[in-house]
Amino acid sequence: MNCIFCKISAGEIPAEHALEDEHVLVFRDVRPQAPTHFLVIPRVHVASLHELEDVELGGRLLTAAARVAREAGLDEGWRLIVNTREHGGQEVDHLHLHVVGGKRLGPMLPS
Ligand code: 5GP
Ligand code: ZN
Repeated sequence: MNCIFCKISAGEIPAEHALEDEHVLVFRDVRPQAPTHFLVIPRVHVASLHELEDVELGGRLLTAAARVAREAGLDEGWRLIVNTREHGGQEVDHLHLHVVGGKRLGPMLPS
């Protein structure tokens, strides 16, 4: 499959890995929107949050997001963003959770 995040998961495209196990990979976003910006992905291809059915995988993704936030020292707070499908602004069609922090973030939905 021609999926960039599947290729990152397989090690075919380099990324700055922060956390990984057999189910989940966390790596730094190549175009960070804040001082700290990670992407949390499942190793299996799931197109978006809209398709997620696996309760255990959902828990693993959420738990990895919290863990990497703690390890990065985002103790003052951070934000989890999951752009979903076209109207949600999703650009890469492999489920990913953005962990964004390292500064006080603005309104969630700026106009
Ligand atoms: P989306 O808009 O789909 O929610 O977010 C996709 C994110 O993936 C963007 O923030 C973009 O910077 C990031 N991204 C796209 N291609 C790559 C890549 O090849 N490597 C990394 N590390 N991040 C990527
Ligand atoms: Zn994929």
